[in-house]
This record gives sequence, structure tokens and C-alpha cells, in this order.
Amino acid sequence: MIFPCENVRIKSSVQNFIASHRIPHAIMIEGENEDSNLRLAQYIATAAVCDGDAAPCGSCKNCHLAAVGSHPDITYVESLEGKKNLSVNQIRDLRADAFVRAHSAAHRVFVIKDAHRMNAQAQNALLKVLEEPPKNVVFILLVPSKTMLLDTIISRCVLLSLIETALDDSFTAMADEFIDLLLLDSEYNLLKLLTPLEKSRVDAGKFLNALSIRVATKLKGGSINARALDRLFDDIKYYQDLLETNINMSLFTSLITSRSKALINK
Ligand SMILES: [Zn+2]
Repeated sequence: MIFPCENVRIKSSVQNFIASHRIPHAIMIEGENEDSNLRLAQYIATAAVCDGDAAPCGSCKNCHLAAVGSHPDITYVESLEGKKNLSVNQIRDLRADAFVRAHSAAHRVFVIKDAHRMNAQAQNALLKVLEEPPKNVVFILLVPSKTMLLDTIISRCVLLSLIETALDDSFTAMADEFIDLLLLDSEYNLLKLLTPLEKSRVDAGKFLNALSIRVATKLKGGSINARALDRLFDDIKYYQDLLETNINMSLFTSLITSRSKALINK
């Protein structure tokens, strides 16, 4: 089976624990893209039930059942239709289920799709089984961000974070160009660069994420005016907060431009 994610770090850690037959009993996958989270969970779940030599082999009976979503030892848990939250009863059922032996595979796997939809009571119910997990059971929790869950849950899980990789290359390139232009060019070109962001708050958020990472990288490198970059880095947090308000987007991009320009040339 093709590994479903390009992050080299995640790929090697997942393939290592699968190859050494040490799949953690609790895994948390965080990332903004639900489909990417789910694909990684499916890969791990399939590997956990696979009979083949190089799990997930993709050709054994267990792999086939997993691929069509009907493997008896892989359970997907999500909030019931029309309900916003995963109920504590669903978690109690899952807990009881976890003590039933696997039907045909080496592991039982529970993928909790909207783990952040558990309230504190449901999370505490889950915590009990994470603390003393039955043998050969794997829990995979999917969340947009780990910060949406209790610390006690986070600390029980091996975290696989897709958040950094969710960064689009085009925003990284844009962030680099922004920094270059700041150092040598006019406000006009900066504004022109940021204009596409006026159409999308989501894109503006991605740009700011990319910018904070690129600025941090350049700060470490120590190549250009570190003090100015440092101030820019602090400013990005301010812009991120501002993006949460209903600020007019063309005002937003011109504010970033003029503030950053003034700050670099101080
Ligand atoms: Zn297989």
C-alpha cells in the first residue's frame, strides 16, 4: 500500500513501529484536513490487521476487508447523525467493545473520527481504557488540533501531527517573497503580492502560518537583520488575532504591508 502522507518524519516513524510490530495502543493524528487524517488512520489500521509480510500488504484478506471498510476488527466511531457531540454512552460502548477479542486479526482497532467532539465526561470515560488498555487494541484519535482535548488524553497518545505538512508550498514561496521584498522594494510590490489574500481569510491564515515559520527559520540562520525579523515575528501573532475579527480584508493586507515595511526600515 502507498503511504498516504508526504511528511518524511511521520512516514519513518509509522513504518518503523509497524515493521517492528510495535504499533502504539493510543495514537493521535492532528491536522486541519479531515481526509488526510483519516487516510493515515486507515493505513495504520490496515497494517494492524494485515497478515502479509510487509504490512499493510494490500493483498491479504484482512487488507481487502479493511480497504472496503468492512473489517470486523476495525471500528469507526463518529458522532451520531444530527448530534454535535460524541456521547459518553458511545465511548462506554466502545470501551466494552475493546475487551472483546479480535475476530480474525491480530489487533482490534478503534478509529475515533471526531475525537474533539467528546465532552470532558466522554474524554474521561475514554481515559480509563487508555490508562489500562486491553491487549492488542489500538485506538486512533483524529482531531484538527490536539489542543482541543484534555492534557490527560494527549499525554497517553503517540502524536502524529500533520499540521506542519498542511502548509501549502505556494504559501511558503509567498512568505519568502514577502520577506525579500520587505528588504529591498517598494510598498506597491508588497501590496500586489498580498492582493490575492483579500479574497480568502483561510488563505490569509495559511500565509501568516507560512510567514511565521519562514521568519523563524531566517532568525535561526541569522542572515538578515535579526532585530527587525524578531519584531515581525511578534507582529504575525497580532495579525493572526486580527484575522479572527471581521476586519476588512483589503485594509488587512495594506496594514500588514505598511507596518512590516516601517518596522524593517526602522
Ligand atoms: Zn495485508
